Amino acid sequence: MDAITFLYMLLQSLIHYLQSVGDVWDEETLWRMEEHAKHLERKRIQLEREVEELDVRQSGEAWGDLLRFALQPWQVWAVAGLPVLLLGLYIFWMKRNDEAENSSEEYEEDQVLGNDLRWLLERIQWPVQDLQGGCEWAIRLMDNYTVYFGHVLSDSFYPVLQRAIGVGSAFEGWSPREQDVVYRVLIPMTPPRGHSFHLELDSAEHRHVRNFRVRVQLECTCSKEQQAEKMLCFLHHPEEELGENQDLSLLDTLCTNSYLDVHKTARWFYQLVRAVWPALPQSHSWHLTLLPSRRSCQIKVTNGEASFRIEVLFGVRRGYSDVFVSSQTREALTLSTTWPEAYNVAEVKFFKYIARQAPPDSLHLRCLQLFSRVQLGFGFSTYMVKTIVMHLLNTIPVSQWRRRYFLRRLGDINVNLRSCLEEKCLNHFIIGNRNLPQEISLPLDISSAEPPNLFHHLAQDPASHSQAMSEYQDLQHRLARLLLNGH
Ligand SMILES: [Zn+2]
Repeated sequence: MDAITFLYMLLQSLIHYLQSVGDVWDEETLWRMEEHAKHLERKRIQLEREVEELDVRQSGEAWGDLLRFALQPWQVWAVAGLPVLLLGLYIFWMKRNDEAENSSEEYEEDQVLGNDLRWLLERIQWPVQDLQGGCEWAIRLMDNYTVYFGHVLSDSFYPVLQRAIGVGSAFEGWSPREQDVVYRVLIPMTPPRGHSFHLELDSAEHRHVRNFRVRVQLECTCSKEQQAEKMLCFLHHPEEELGENQDLSLLDTLCTNSYLDVHKTARWFYQLVRAVWPALPQSHSWHLTLLPSRRSCQIKVTNGEASFRIEVLFGVRRGYSDVFVSSQTREALTLSTTWPEAYNVAEVKFFKYIARQAPPDSLHLRCLQLFSRVQLGFGFSTYMVKTIVMHLLNTIPVSQWRRRYFLRRLGDINVNLRSCLEEKCLNHFIIGNRNLPQEISLPLDISSAEPPNLFHHLAQDPASHSQAMSEYQDLQHRLARLLLNGH
């Protein structure tokens, strides 16, 4: 008896059995179900053997792993998800069988695989919002803001606000959330006239996080060109004259001990956003709400039907590179003068680079979406899963992320996650990566550094490691359930 006939018979008998049981859950029913579960457990062992013998050509070994895993919590499936699981596997293998018989042409093979994947992909939920439209809307709003910031701040000595750069998952083309997507932007700041910024690496901090301070220094503006701008030199004009004729320097407004202060900058920006809003075309049909935040500016814009959440971060570019020091931080107790190094601009550039190369039916973002969705609420962060996917995107040719390789790539991510956890090692994708696309520009100390290990805490703490391994097992259950059951 081959595996497909076996599965079909098992499915038939199970449906018949469940119909006969009906909805009554008395003691006898429970006893019968328990007996049946034992019977199914015996069948499972047999089925597993069959599964192992199957040549799942498209899926590869990695996917086979996952399917075998899906078959493990058998008692749970027997009561709740078994019919769906079996039906899924049945369809899956029926199609595979069809394919083996019919496909000599690649086109036919694609058709068959397309049908296989359709029911699978339909079961995975994607963000309800149009991410690309949302990104364009957010950038349009921020661009309008930038024009007004330029006018309002032209005579002041506040930081010069440059055009916002979209960063984070939405601008990379995916979202770990189905709803309530946050559009994150980074506003690069440059020093105003008569000032300069000096980035200082804060070596006293934890060595796995690179934190900087932004020292603000006054510069001499006595030269003739500067005189033409009717600006007094902060260094060489008498204080009285400065006090009467010129605004305060940045040192006296947004700094603490000569260092640019994140909290003061966020407060200043908050007031600026609120003050400029009535002048923007968007204010006619949208309502602005500003949510309190110490290290960013949280904007919510609604019009009754739609709403957008935008998080504005501030940053200072490191030289001419794609690396910034930014106001964003994951740690609660960060000093107000601490600006952690940020790689989100380089990362969004990497995703755009891949998108330009990728064929139209590439599903690399869907792979990431799926893993990040089952990931929510677990100990290892979405960022770690994203790091694994970025490493794979950088090594596997873009043509291999097409629709027909979907299962194989999911298997790759899964196997990589497991081996990284087992080895307690996951290299940072940007720092020390010598194989990045050339258009991503890194400061020399970043490109030549040893890549930090994102799993260093697992190597140091055995309890965290065993916790992470058990969370990985949970993730497998959730992933299998999501793929085969749709929720
Ligand atoms: Zn001077």
